[in-house]
Amino acid sequence: MKKRVTITVPRNAIRIPLTYRLEKDFNIAANIIRAQVAPNQIGKLVVELQGEIDRIDAAIEWMRMGDIQVFSASGEIVIDEDSCVDCGLCTGVCPTEALVLDPVTFKLNFRRSRCIVCEQCVPTCPVAAISTNL
Ligand code: SF4
Ligand code: SF4
Repeated sequence: MKKRVTITVPRNAIRIPLTYRLEKDFNIAANIIRAQVAPNQIGKLVVELQGEIDRIDAAIEWMRMGDIQVFSASGEIVIDEDSCVDCGLCTGVCPTEALVLDPVTFKLNFRRSRCIVCEQCVPTCPVAAISTNL
């Protein structure tokens, strides 16, 4: 099976060869869909894990024991531009600045390439303009 997850790797674990360990220790193929390393060396990844469900669960448990945060990522973020009122509330919770207000037009700007599908923005929208596509 496949499971898409968002992984946050703290500074003390940034040197762990994650994909290698997942393959070698758990027989899981890890396909990195998106990766960002912040200036303070915290890494955020969206990864698709492929393998047996029990092994995926064991791998997630192993990562969590190593202070690596793992969340389910259910798909891609979708912004309903017709509903959005450009209030900017979602920009305040986005950890990667994928959501910003344009400084000139004050319109919401969604920079998909920066999105790690953490879904923190979804419940903040007062008009339910943000959703995931799965
Ligand atoms: S899911 Fe929302 S809050 Fe998370 S990175 Fe993407 S746009 Fe930002
Ligand atoms: S919180 Fe909702 S309405 Fe406000 S800018 Fe974000 S998507 Fe648009």
